[in-house]
Amino acid sequence: MKLHMQILIALGLGIKRNWHIFFGIILGIVVGIFLHGHEYPLVSTVLTFIGQVFIRLIQMVVIPLVVSAIVIGITSIGDNKQLGKFGTKMVVYYGIITSIAVAIGAVLALIFKPGVGAAHYIAENAASEVQASVAAAMEQQHNVLNIFLGFIPSNPMHSFAAGDMVPIIVFVLIFAVALAKVGDVNRPIVSFFESVFAATMKITDWIMYFAAPGVFALTASAVSSFGIDIFTSISKYLLVLFIGFMLQLCVVYPLFLKFFSKVNIGMLYSAVAEAMMVAFGTASSSATLPLTIACCEKRGISHKIASFVLPLGATLNMDGTALLQTVAVIFLAQAYGVALTPFLIIEIALLAIIASSTCAGIPGAGLITIALILNGMGLSPEQLVAGFAFLFTIERITDMMRTLVNVTSDAVVVAAIADNENEINYDLLNNPAAYEDIA
Ligand code: ASP
Repeated sequence: MKLHMQILIALGLGIKRNWHIFFGIILGIVVGIFLHGHEYPLVSTVLTFIGQVFIRLIQMVVIPLVVSAIVIGITSIGDNKQLGKFGTKMVVYYGIITSIAVAIGAVLALIFKPGVGAAHYIAENAASEVQASVAAAMEQQHNVLNIFLGFIPSNPMHSFAAGDMVPIIVFVLIFAVALAKVGDVNRPIVSFFESVFAATMKITDWIMYFAAPGVFALTASAVSSFGIDIFTSISKYLLVLFIGFMLQLCVVYPLFLKFFSKVNIGMLYSAVAEAMMVAFGTASSSATLPLTIACCEKRGISHKIASFVLPLGATLNMDGTALLQTVAVIFLAQAYGVALTPFLIIEIALLAIIASSTCAGIPGAGLITIALILNGMGLSPEQLVAGFAFLFTIERITDMMRTLVNVTSDAVVVAAIADNENEINYDLLNNPAAYEDIA
């Protein structure tokens, strides 16, 4: 069977199993279009409230889940050599997927030039100021070391309280490796985290009863705020993003899995369809994480691999975000008439890889860490106000798309690693019917 048919059928199966969430998305789009341009303050307040309840409920379990999953994952792998092997493989796989995403974003943005049409909205003096700043920055290179410094938490409790995921993960990784090293005395604390993990997964099950109304409300309020007209005014930019995301989903991931594993992409997509839909609805990889783990484990990926690779992926692997950031920055450069030299393009691509992986898996984070790329180019977001205004008008919808891509690639990488390590039960993965029986 042709690959695209396999993907469609698999997604169909996944949607059939979770038709209520899919229905929530479609109904959300229809209601959002209807509400756009009308004043129904009560309806918008209620929709925002329902959406926020759903997001807050899932965010509530993220930190306990990430901490317990990483501790269990690392201590169960135990031996140093295996841990090093998994860890390296994970970084390499995530690195490959994100670099391809950035390359696709850059090539598409250079071919379609989405920013050129936006140039007439930008005041001439603003444009020349921006051009001068970029030129000056290109002469003296910037220090990216400070970015890395920020990843080391000087006070982990502060990072926990502030919900800063990257420093939290750095601390928990070091803590878990130390626990693995100290041998049997770690038992009480590891069993403690096993209980925390089990309880948070149970809470996730309960929260998922609320997924359909939650996703409906979030989609409806996002769509009602911009209506469909926005699609025409900024269509080129959206088109470039859409093509880029589709290439990742329908070409890059299937090829990646073919090359590095025996996993059938269709079966994987059918397994994680529910997580993909919730990612789209919530625009948050972290919030979707409990579900991504549940979907992967239910369909045969071992707990050992899933609990180690997915929490890290949900925070560090943001290929959809990297693609968007590359396109967005090239869009701004084109709109402001900045000369896109090969050197500048490579710098944008490298900074996008760093900026995306420092970005938290929460709504809107990707547009904020674009500041890091602009900073590297010698600019501040304030200098690009008019250009940013464009990006913000459609922020939510692009966030929904890029988060779906982010979450899917986490699943692709975890499946490849599980395959390589013989940690996948193919009877479950390749047999959605068997899954229905045990679900
Ligand atoms: N919302 C995205 C995510 O959670 C991050 C971003 O804003 O790009 O994956």
